Amino acid sequence: MKKTIYLLNDIHMKRRHCSCLLLVVLLACSCFVHAQSDSIKTLIITGQNNHNWQVSHLVLEKILENSGLFSVDFAISPEKGQDMSNYIIDFKPYQLVVVDYNGDSWPEETNQRLVEYVQNGGGIVFFHAADNAFPKWKEYNEMIALGGWNGRNETSGPYQYWENNKLIQNPEPGIGGHHGAPHEFVLNARDKKHPIMKGLPAQWKHAQDELYSLMRGPGKIKSVLYTAFSDKEKGGSGREEPLIFTVKYGKGRIFHTMIGHVGPTLQENAAMQCTGFQVTLLRGSEWAATGKVTQAVPDDFPTADRMSLRTDYF
Ligand code: ZN
Repeated sequence: MKKTIYLLNDIHMKRRHCSCLLLVVLLACSCFVHAQSDSIKTLIITGQNNHNWQVSHLVLEKILENSGLFSVDFAISPEKGQDMSNYIIDFKPYQLVVVDYNGDSWPEETNQRLVEYVQNGGGIVFFHAADNAFPKWKEYNEMIALGGWNGRNETSGPYQYWENNKLIQNPEPGIGGHHGAPHEFVLNARDKKHPIMKGLPAQWKHAQDELYSLMRGPGKIKSVLYTAFSDKEKGGSGREEPLIFTVKYGKGRIFHTMIGHVGPTLQENAAMQCTGFQVTLLRGSEWAATGKVTQAVPDDFPTADRMSLRTDYF
């Protein structure tokens, strides 16, 4: 079994395929194919980012596939500045789309297809810097609900943050998107009844990561799942920032996680190795694809004062 890159609908996509030379391998492959047919077909969009997408898309793939619930394809874009006109993505075969992309605009055809996919009930996950992308694409900003950087300001929508037990919308002028120095911080549960949250602790300690703050946007957050306090002593906003949430948009199921800054290598990658990041990603992904969460909360989930890292996803 190995990965290859081939053309489908004129885009570069990577898929697994079997190289079966022996009967025993063929048998193993048939089992693999059977398992794959039951799994959630997932497309990771990547190829440009101000982050190390060459690492992050492989880590996302491993996290998803190691669960046994997902089978992953990649839609890898042309490099920054190259011709994007053939980057036409067919979302229809997929129950789940994961956006790990922050770069040049896609062709209008792809934009329209993504909007239709989500409007019609598709499942989508926006991962970390995906919410930096496309500051001028109205529907995209409604789908992510909150975005940052790339010139965002008060024209991009209000700040949204947690205060007095509810989500505040504040239209005051100012930048969109900030984070202080990466550090360890605690996630605080808000909507404890959501299927993604069932069995998860009210608080858990996250590994060193960027804590996005001052995010703003036009979208409607449906359920705030976890917030974290953005401490001014760490260069933060002094606000309780929504970091993991779902979004109301058409019939779609949208899961947005702002955590998970990718490290320089597979090994030096604490934020994505955090069990809390991985498990919330897995639960959010299953919910986005199916509307349900069937996964038990693992014993190694972090607690309020104990971090937990999974370093063996490869
Ligand atoms: Zn980052």
